[in-house]
This record gives sequence, structure tokens and C-alpha cells, in this order.
Amino acid sequence: QLMMHAFVGKGREKQSQDLLGKALEKARKSDANRRDGKPSISFLDGIPIAVKDNFAMRGEIVSAGSKMLSKNECSYTATVIDRLEQSGAVVFGQTTMDEFGMGSHSRNGINAPVKNPIDGRLSPGGSSGGSAAAVANGTCLVAIGSDTGGSVRLPAAFQGVVGTKPSYGRCSRYGLIAYASSFDCPGILTRNVCDAAITLAIMQGADPKDGQTVEEDGRISSVATELISESQMNFKEWLESGKTKGGNNNGSGSNSSSSSNSDRVLPLLGVRVGIPGEFFLEETTPAVMESWTKSIEAFEELGATIVPVSLPSVKLALPAYYVLVCAEASSNLNRYDDIKFSASRDDGFGEEVKRRIVSGAFSLSSQRVEGAYKNSEKIRQRISNEFKDIFERSCDVLLTPTSAREAPFLEDVLRESKVESYAQDALTVPMSLAGLPSVSIPCGRSVSNGRPIGMQVTAPMFREAGMLRVASALE
Ligand code: GLN
Repeated sequence: QLMMHAFVGKGREKQSQDLLGKALEKARKSDANRRDGKPSISFLDGIPIAVKDNFAMRGEIVSAGSKMLSKNECSYTATVIDRLEQSGAVVFGQTTMDEFGMGSHSRNGINAPVKNPIDGRLSPGGSSGGSAAAVANGTCLVAIGSDTGGSVRLPAAFQGVVGTKPSYGRCSRYGLIAYASSFDCPGILTRNVCDAAITLAIMQGADPKDGQTVEEDGRISSVATELISESQMNFKEWLESGKTKGGNNNGSGSNSSSSSNSDRVLPLLGVRVGIPGEFFLEETTPAVMESWTKSIEAFEELGATIVPVSLPSVKLALPAYYVLVCAEASSNLNRYDDIKFSASRDDGFGEEVKRRIVSGAFSLSSQRVEGAYKNSEKIRQRISNEFKDIFERSCDVLLTPTSAREAPFLEDVLRESKVESYAQDALTVPMSLAGLPSVSIPCGRSVSNGRPIGMQVTAPMFREAGMLRVASALE
């Protein structure tokens, strides 16, 4: 029942059952190994994970939510998925998405819609809405998504889970069905930052099959190990406090926990957290504003220094993003023709995809390319420079909301104009233009409507280790 609302189903019942069967077999093997006392391959050994329907998996249909690819059986596996499987993770299902990743509410794909487990009337966010829902509804601990302009972070915010977008080039795109190649990043949905660090440490690193990837940085795995030992410590403390409450106190339990509290060094001492005013929009709701303020206070209490910063070109990010991704999409989607694929382009692509192909082809046409396209490239460069500059001079990470509003009602989303619906991505696309790593973490709920709110912690290129360390302090 739960799977129905997050995983591909319609027309792929048999394949989904088979994949689940294979997964069970692998999981049993991993259990048996453990019983025999064999060491685990990794922390993900035997852990069931879900994968967005745009990552190639050998022998499986992978459709990217498109009718055009509804019969696309893959002959190879995406690098990041292969790495996870080599580490013992068990892929048991494929999650529903917006067609080719184009959308913010998981409504554009052939297997859509996805149901937001918080409340079925709310937008689940998109395009990795299915992956977020698989984690939020408790089906699995880890789901893989992709983030071109916010597709991992937005559904994480709308569903109250953690969504991690690594730096561009940190994780291989090999086997990820292309949307806009200079933006596409494999990403991760989890319940907490620790699980994200564990998963990222396994997925990341140079891949000869993706020339944009960089050499491995072992610090992510040390952060993962640190967070694991901290969560075990918290668990022990929790157990001990339980004993104390139960009257099973031998005198040392409560003492040791209170003294450790006062002795605790401030974990974020020396960390400079930048607050860019441009991320405050006219549409920002009071609940989002309150969560932002509270997160700033929480950071301060943990010892961080708060620094107001300015990124003036960020207000141009949204139009520049849409010009560039449509241009790249129109060129990427050219490969799908009637001859090799099952459907004609007219019938095989949905409305939103066709709209973007046309607009991309228009801005790339020889008479036009000097206009919007070249301009958008310049804006992209300017935004990247501004980020670089504030990270060099003023701060170590940035703290901003993921969305100006809590998850909207679907019925309201359906009434929105195209421009209004693109505006949903205003706070996630600046990082995508600059290729920066960014993680959305749940930071409380709106007092008026109970919906979760997500905050993004963003770091300089390839500083995921520090970013996750800082983000975990907000949990
Ligand atoms: N909503 C944005 C778009 O449609 C982002 C999508 C994504 O990150 N895949 O382009």
C-alpha cells in the first residue's frame, strides 16, 4: 500500500515484483553472512534502498517517467548504484518522478502522482518526490534521487526528510538519464544527516566514465564514522536517562550526564554562518521566516558566528536557470527519435517536456543564441563568482530556507501559472547554477498548519564533509 504512492507501478507490475524478489534474496544472503559471523562489507550491507526511475539498472526498465522510455530496458548499471550494490545495499524498488526530472510536484511523469505521506492533499515536492516519500513513509532508510535545480532538496523540505545535493562532479552521472548535463547531480534522501554521510561516502568519487568527476575525498567517510559514534553515544545517554527515570539509578548515571552537558565544548565554535538577505522573498511565509530565525539562533547557541552576506545576482538565478536547462534539455532529448524508441516524439513526450524542448531550441537558434542564452551563461558565471567571493572572505557555510513556503495544497498548485510554478525553485537553483553542495534538513513545523519546513546548509565546492558536520548540529 505504502509502495503504491511512491514507486513505479502501472504497467511495470511484473518487473517491480521481480526486483523485489531479487532484493529479498540478496537481503537474506546478507543476513545469513551476519549469522555466520562474516564481517559486513559496509554500513549499507543488507540495507534496502530505493532508486529514482532515472538511474540505469541492468536488466530493469528505466523510464525517467517518460512514455518515450516506457520500454527502455537497460544493459548496464549507473556507477553510483553499482557502488552502492557493491557495498551490500539492496535495491528493492524504483521511485516515481516528474518526466526527465522536469517539475517540482511529481505530477508530470507517467507513474505520477506521488502522495505526500504527511497529508495526501499536499504537494510531495519534485522531481524526486517518490524517493522522498519512500523515506518519509518509512519504506526505507535511504533513497537515491537526482538534483538538477532542487529536485532532491525540495521534496525533502515538503516531506520532512534530509535531502543532500553533492557538489557537481562529486558523484558520477554515468547511467543517470540526462536532463541538463551541466547541472545534473545524483543526490540522497534519508531520515538523518548521518545516513546521508554514510551513503555519500560510498557513492562519491572519480569515475572514468564521467569526465567531470573528481578524485575521492576520504573526509566524508570520517564524518560518517563520527556521526555514527555520536548517535550511538546519544543512544547510550538516552538509555541511561531512561534508567534514571525508571528509578534504576545507582547515583552515577544522572551525574555523568549532567556534567557532560556543562563540560561540552560548543560544537560550532569558530564556524561562520552566512545569511544572504536575497533569500528572503516577498512570498516567504511567516512560518518559514520563523524557522529560519530559530535555526540562526540554534547555530548561535552552538557557538557559530552569524554573518549577514549579500549575493546580489541571485535574483537573476531563476530565469537564467530555466533558459540554460531548457537549452541543454532540448539538445539531450534530441537522441530520442521514433526509430529507436517506442513512441513518436509528439506522443512520447509529455506537455511540460515538449514546452521545454521548444523553448530551449528557440533560445539556441542561431538568430537568438547571442541573447537570452549567452546572457544566462554570464549570469551563471556572476553568481558562481559571488558565492566564491563570500566563501573566501566572509563565511564557511550559508543557511537559507529551501522553499519560501511550506508544501502547498495540490489543488492550489494546479491553479498556478507556469511562471508561478517555476518560481517554486527560486531558492534551490542558485546553488545548482554554481554547482555547490547543499543539504536540506527538516527544521521544525509551521505552528499554524503543522507542515514541515526545510533549511539548506550550503558549502563551497567539495566541502561536503564540513557541510554535513554543520548540518547535523541542527538536527
Ligand atoms: N523543478 C526544477 C526543474 O523542473 C528542478 C528539477 C530538478 O532538479 N530535476 O527544472
